[in-house]
Amino acid sequence: MARGATLFQNVRIFDGKSDALSAPSDVLVKSNVIERVSASPITLDTKTDVRVIAGDGRVLMPGLIDAHWHAFMAATPQLLLMTADPSYLHLLAARQAEATLMRGFTTVRDLGGPVFGLKRAIDEGVMIGPRIYPSGAFISQTSGHGDFRFAFEVPRTLGGPLSHSEVEGIAAIADSPDEVRLRAREQLRQGASQIKLMAGGGVASPYNPIESTQFTEPEIRAAVEAADNWGTYVTVHAYTPRAIRQAVAAGVKGIEHGQLIDEPTAKLLAEKDIWWSLQPLLDDEDVPALSPESRKKASVVFAGTDYAYELAKKYKIKTAFGSDVLFDARIAGRQGAILAKMVRWYTPAEALKMATADNGELMALSGFINPYPGKLGVVEEGALADLLLVDGNPLENVRLVEDPDKNFLVIMKDGTIYKNALPK
Ligand SMILES: [Zn+2]
Repeated sequence: MARGATLFQNVRIFDGKSDALSAPSDVLVKSNVIERVSASPITLDTKTDVRVIAGDGRVLMPGLIDAHWHAFMAATPQLLLMTADPSYLHLLAARQAEATLMRGFTTVRDLGGPVFGLKRAIDEGVMIGPRIYPSGAFISQTSGHGDFRFAFEVPRTLGGPLSHSEVEGIAAIADSPDEVRLRAREQLRQGASQIKLMAGGGVASPYNPIESTQFTEPEIRAAVEAADNWGTYVTVHAYTPRAIRQAVAAGVKGIEHGQLIDEPTAKLLAEKDIWWSLQPLLDDEDVPALSPESRKKASVVFAGTDYAYELAKKYKIKTAFGSDVLFDARIAGRQGAILAKMVRWYTPAEALKMATADNGELMALSGFINPYPGKLGVVEEGALADLLLVDGNPLENVRLVEDPDKNFLVIMKDGTIYKNALPK
């Protein structure tokens, strides 16, 4: 797994941006950076120690980026998360991080959960997994989408003891601008690359209607100021026009979900250059087991998905791909299949561009605290070397990403090869 230098010979490149493959090319990676991309063969000094990968005309593309992931919670059932020994849960998360990388996702933006330790272990090479842009605990008001306390844990006296999910760093419950500021700064102190707030009702949380607007503008603004002073931004969970508008007025730079948006609010996102991190949520095989109450809320969201993508396209809103899988190992295993669903609204090239170059641009929004400075999501000289060698052309058949075990022959992250299934 040593980094060194790698030469990909005779590959056709999907560079993350273009809607067509390149002519047969060679790509030279040195250390963790793409050093050269050349349409004519790259010849090497015989003395240099370079690993050569014969692409045989196969497709080389950027590693995939999931802009809405929960490394701690994607594959573990909710009841276990609320009751099991945290050290056990962290080991499960580490196992899932390796599976995530092996699905070709070389970067994830983590929008809630205790992943600072996991990120560190991966970055140090102790564990295997994707680059993680962590948010740390998501910040929620009392009774908001991040309030998963049991019924008997309320009332809490001001300044009283923290609930289990707060102690573990999953959620932070805050009920004033001062509390939000404190919690936001605590996440930044631990290494959050962006801050995540719950700004409106959610599906899986029991104590809030989906129509609810959460926090007040001054509360959200407190987080925005804390993030902005650290060079980064706030993104919010919000579905409804009212929740989205309040958050935008407070200065957030991202909206997560937003399936219940209306046309004027979509226009506002375009005008304000806000990133819209949308999930292809449909009433299909990727719906987790839900309580009857949550199920009712979910169908309202599913009904909005088609229109949301239609508006995102109509107003050319900066749109990110994120899967937002929670509590289910089977569905987490379908991360690539969730991406492939995007062809309901986009061409394969557009969908793959969103999950590579576009999401890479979104990651860079974390400014001077970006944990992985450098270009992500593109195959070009000078970019970070996160690469997939695909057996087939994903621009013709995006469903290749559904079966990474079979179709991703080489997986490279940061110049290191984690998988090489090419015949020796
Ligand atoms: Zn989420």
